[in-house]
Amino acid sequence: MKIQSFVNNPRKSQLNDRPVCQVAIIGAGPYGLAAAAHLRAAKIETRVFGETMGFWSRQMPEGMIVRSIWDACHISDPHRALTMDGYTAAERVQIPQPVALSDFINYGRWFQQQVVPDVDARHVAGIELAPHGFRLVLDDGESFHAQRVVIATGIAKFSRRPPIFDGFPAELVSHTSEHRKLNHFAGKSVAVIGGGQSALETAALLHELGAEVEVIARQPRINWLDQKVTWLKSEANPFRRIFYPPSDVGPPGLNWIVATPGLFRQLPRRTQEWVAYRSIRPAGSGWLVPRLRTVPIRTSLTVTTATGAGTDKVALQIDDGSARRVDHVMLATGYRVDVTRHSFFAPDLLKALHVADGYPELRAGLESSVPGLHFVGAPAARSFGPVNRFVSGTGYAASSLARRIVASAGRNEP
Ligand SMILES: Cc1cc2nc3c(=O)[nH]c(=O)nc-3n(C[C@H](O)[C@H](O)[C@H](O)COP(=O)(O)OP(=O)(O)OC[C@H]3O[C@@H](n4cnc5c(N)ncnc54)[C@H](O)[C@@H]3O)c2cc1C
Repeated sequence: MKIQSFVNNPRKSQLNDRPVCQVAIIGAGPYGLAAAAHLRAAKIETRVFGETMGFWSRQMPEGMIVRSIWDACHISDPHRALTMDGYTAAERVQIPQPVALSDFINYGRWFQQQVVPDVDARHVAGIELAPHGFRLVLDDGESFHAQRVVIATGIAKFSRRPPIFDGFPAELVSHTSEHRKLNHFAGKSVAVIGGGQSALETAALLHELGAEVEVIARQPRINWLDQKVTWLKSEANPFRRIFYPPSDVGPPGLNWIVATPGLFRQLPRRTQEWVAYRSIRPAGSGWLVPRLRTVPIRTSLTVTTATGAGTDKVALQIDDGSARRVDHVMLATGYRVDVTRHSFFAPDLLKALHVADGYPELRAGLESSVPGLHFVGAPAARSFGPVNRFVSGTGYAASSLARRIVASAGRNEP
């Protein structure tokens, strides 16, 4: 099933001989793909760069289960034809729920084939301001001009490592995002630092692979989600959508605010912060509970120092006075957005970019203070709310981006 038939037709710039395109999307994950689907359907000439579903297929552990419910896994397209249901029907496949990582990656690759079969897997190494837009340089040195650029590069660059673990080699201390396979930890002792989904699921996978695992979390208790599906949330309840929007982010009451990024944006900053905090605090899926029954999970603990113990062990000092000596420390300490860490931005562009707490300040169409430069995905979360950290935010982001770009094309703006 193909829903679009636009083939890129790079024109030649008047200024020089390099091809120019209307929109360059950097990133081929759910957000980049959704943006491409909406823009190409609106006949906006669009090029997409990056490895399709690269973050999901390289930086999440094999065997992982996607935390989002089915309805929150659809990557947005303007005709709502390329949902998970569209995929299973078109490809005649069955996907058990909760959705396995491998199934979600296959869905994303299928979506890409329908929308942007011509994804360019090269990485963008440089973006600089140019007359009437931007000049982009690819990792092989080729350069071209784009009138607009959409940054859809996800969170991979923003992994958070507590400074006490600086200087350790990757064999002793690593972040969860550095692993696709975990089987080499069989028989080893591993301290997993963190108390969210990534920590708990990594701990379950390590335990099942034969590692000796302990979870060390700062928070006073683990928040478990949806241990039992109540009648209110069950499919049998015809009024379920009143209480639970399909975006599936945030507790009842706040979840509809989060599902409406245009509304979130209007709230006072302090209310936005509170809504975001209440909606995305660390939590584990209820289906992990039985898998972790015999794994020690220690809460209200902070690692105060980490030192090498011989060449192949790490010694941890904990703030309750106890100590550990482990083969490996797995940092499931999440991500912290800071777009200034992107090495591809030229200094003059970075100077013109208004950033608060690492997030770009965005207006309608998810456009930054640099006209024509847009951000989708997690970097949009400060302006448009936490749904932008999840696949279920692709609908709002891609449609509002397309509306802005179509409107500006109509006015002959760059
Ligand atoms: C362990 C884990 C589990 C998660 N589970 C869920 C879940 O259940 N549900 C959910 O909704 N979200 C989940 N998330 C969040 C998830 O990361 C985002 O929802 C989703 O990946 C956002 O999509 P994206 O397109 O913004 O980024 P990504 O999927 O990270 O895609 C980024 C793209 O950018 C490309 N790229 C990066 N730099 C460049 C460059 N310089 N040039 C060209 N291309 C580049 C990459 O190759 C990739 O194609 C999870 C995250 C983690 C870490």
